[in-house]
Amino acid sequence: MPALFVGHGSPMNAIENNDFSMAWEETGRSLPCPEAVLCISAHWETDGIRATANKRPETIHDFFGFPRPLYDVQYPAPGMPELVQRLREMVRSAAVHPDPDRGLDHGSWSVLCRMFPDAGIPVVQLSIDYSRSPLFHYELGRQLKGLRKEGVLIIGSGNMIHNLGVMVWQDTAFDWAIEMDRQLEKLILSRDHQQLIDYDKLGSTARLAVPTSEHYLPLLYVLAMQDEEDRIDFFAEKVTLGSVSMRSLRIG
Ligand code: ZN
Repeated sequence: MPALFVGHGSPMNAIENNDFSMAWEETGRSLPCPEAVLCISAHWETDGIRATANKRPETIHDFFGFPRPLYDVQYPAPGMPELVQRLREMVRSAAVHPDPDRGLDHGSWSVLCRMFPDAGIPVVQLSIDYSRSPLFHYELGRQLKGLRKEGVLIIGSGNMIHNLGVMVWQDTAFDWAIEMDRQLEKLILSRDHQQLIDYDKLGSTARLAVPTSEHYLPLLYVLAMQDEEDRIDFFAEKVTLGSVSMRSLRIG
């Protein structure tokens, strides 16, 4: 099974027909049918690692000030407690705590409602432990790599470049964001994972592009699942809103 990193951007992509949502639909159609989806979303940060363990995870509308139709979206995919149990067996570096109360946030459902609109594939979300280093997250991805062989589609959902402090509501791109986006593209294609793990050493542009790590870290999980022979395909490659890269990739 391939693994995906999706730049999710604005929650409006869930209900708008644009290049991004159409690329998600196309990607969904091109994949083998997964047994389950494991999503690592930027929008669930916790102290320790948690996994959604409800058989019917609710759709969380974790944003403010958007139009009513976005709050009406429901993504009623089933959960999969057996997959959570599998995660607990596979992860050796820390405990994975089942969380029966947590639902799916928009990092997951805004993408999945376009990729798999019938919501028939079970979905589990894994939280991002904010107390851990980028290397820890990369190594955690390594431990979960075997899930690809078990038919589980792993989706990291974030944005490689994500600076809300300077964002503008326009389809435009700051020069520094384009420069950083190209640098990340090159590092991904040359499979230079060490530099991508040590992104904070890439200079002042990197600090502007990744002021906080939560939208970047899901990328490291997906890179960690790469095999030597895996192809890398970008299914979105655009910087928008000034400071948000929608660059998205498929591995394998
Ligand atoms: Zn986000």
